[in-house]
Amino acid sequence: MKTNNYDIIIIGAGFAGCALAYQFSKENVETLLIESGGICSGTSSACAGRAQIIESETDEYLKIVLAGFSKLPDLGKELEIDLEWETPGHLTLLFSDQELFKFKQITSKLNSYGINAEIIGSDLLQKLEPFLHANNSKGAAYSIEGHLNPFKFCLGYLNAARKNGVDIKLHSKVTNFQINNQKVIGVFANGELFSSQIVILATGAWTGSLSRILNCELPLSFTKAEAMVSQPLPKILSHHIGISGFYEAVHGQDKRVTLGIGQHRNGCLVISNAIQPASIIDRSSSAWGMPSISNQLQKFFPVLNPINILRTWSAPSPFSKDSLPIIGWMPHYDNLYIATAFHLAIPTIPIFTEEIMHHILESPEKKHSEFLKPFFPNRFYAHNER
Ligand SMILES: Cc1cc2nc3c(=O)[nH]c(=O)nc-3n(C[C@H](O)[C@H](O)[C@H](O)COP(=O)(O)OP(=O)(O)OC[C@H]3O[C@@H](n4cnc5c(N)ncnc54)[C@H](O)[C@@H]3O)c2cc1C
Repeated sequence: MKTNNYDIIIIGAGFAGCALAYQFSKENVETLLIESGGICSGTSSACAGRAQIIESETDEYLKIVLAGFSKLPDLGKELEIDLEWETPGHLTLLFSDQELFKFKQITSKLNSYGINAEIIGSDLLQKLEPFLHANNSKGAAYSIEGHLNPFKFCLGYLNAARKNGVDIKLHSKVTNFQINNQKVIGVFANGELFSSQIVILATGAWTGSLSRILNCELPLSFTKAEAMVSQPLPKILSHHIGISGFYEAVHGQDKRVTLGIGQHRNGCLVISNAIQPASIIDRSSSAWGMPSISNQLQKFFPVLNPINILRTWSAPSPFSKDSLPIIGWMPHYDNLYIATAFHLAIPTIPIFTEEIMHHILESPEKKHSEFLKPFFPNRFYAHNER
C-alpha cells in the first residue's frame, strides 16, 4: 500500500519542480511533487519560451547557459515530447552609441566562446526583418538563440517523471510544515500530511511567503510582468526581436514597457513585456500594461495594426538581490533545499536541475557543490557558513 512517506518532496510544478522531479525519478528516488494549482500554472505559464544566450551577464553564467542550451535540441527526444524547438536567433535593437559599444563587446565575447554573434547595420536589419519599423536604430546585435513551447517543456518533464514513478498531487496547496529538531519532516496540503527526508521549495515567486512560514526571511523580490499572444499569422518575423535593456527592465524597480517579440511554429506572436514593481502577487492584466505593450508593438510593427490578441496574462517575475538564482540548502534547517529565482530559466534549468540532483544525492553530509556554490542561499546569511 502506498504511504505518505517519501525520500524527497518537491513543492511547485513549474519548470524547476517538474525538471527536478524528472532528475530524481531517473535515480529511482521516492519523490512526491505537490502543486497548488495545475501543471505549469505559475510564472512558467507566462514564459515566452526563449532560450536566451546573449543576456548572460558574466562569463561564469554564460558557461552554464551554454551547457544547458546544448541539451535543448535533444531534450524533446529524451522526454518523448515535441517541444517545438526552433533556433530563430535573436536581434537586440540598438539605439545609442553606448548600446552599440556595449553589444560590440558582448558579441565578441560570444565569438570567443564559438557562438555565432555579430553587430549588423540598419540596412541589413531591414532586409532581415522587412516588417520591422526601426528607422532610428543603429542596427542590432545578432546572436544564436532558440525557443520552445514552455507548456510542453513543463509537461514533458512532468510526464517523464510520472512514467518513472514520481507521485504528483495537483491542486494541493502546501499551507504548513512539520518541524522536528532542525528538520522539516512533513508538509501539510489539503488536510493531509506528507513526510519526507528532504523538502525542496521550487515555488518561484511564492518561495518568500512559504519560507516565512518556516521563519526564514528570503531576500526575494518580484515584479508584475505582463504579456500577450496574437492570433496565428503568416510568417512576419524571422528572429526573436528585443530592445536593449530588456532584463534591466524585468528586474528593475520602475514601471516600464519594453518589447520582446517572437513568432512560434503555430504562427502566434508572443509579445512581452509591461513591468511594474509589486509587493503582492496579482495575476490580473492591468489597464496600463496591455495598451502599453500594444503601443510599443504598433510603433515597431505598424503592419500589425490591427491584429487579434488571443490571450493576455500577468505573472510575478522573481529575482534575488544579486539577480542570481537561489539554489542550495537553507542554513536554518538540516534538510530544506531552495531552487528559485532562475535567471534565463529555459537554457539553465536542464543543467541546474541535474546539478541539484547530484548535490542532494551525492553529498548529503558535506552539502557542498563547487558548481552551485555561487547560488547558495547562505550568501544572504552572514552568520552561517554552510
Ligand atoms: C512574461 C514573462 C516572460 C518570460 N519569458 C521567459 C523566456 O522567454 N525565457 C525564459 O527562460 N524565462 C522567461 N521568463 C521567466 C520564467 O518563466 C521563469 O524563470 C520560470 O518560469 C520560473 O519557473 P519556476 O519553476 O521557478 O517557478 P513557477 O513556474 O512560478 O513555479 C512555482 C510553482 O509553485 C507553485 N506553488 C507556489 N506556492 C505553493 C504552495 N504553497 N503549495 C504548492 N505549490 C505552490 C506555484 O503554483 C507554481 O506553479 C518569463 C517570465 C515572465 C513573467
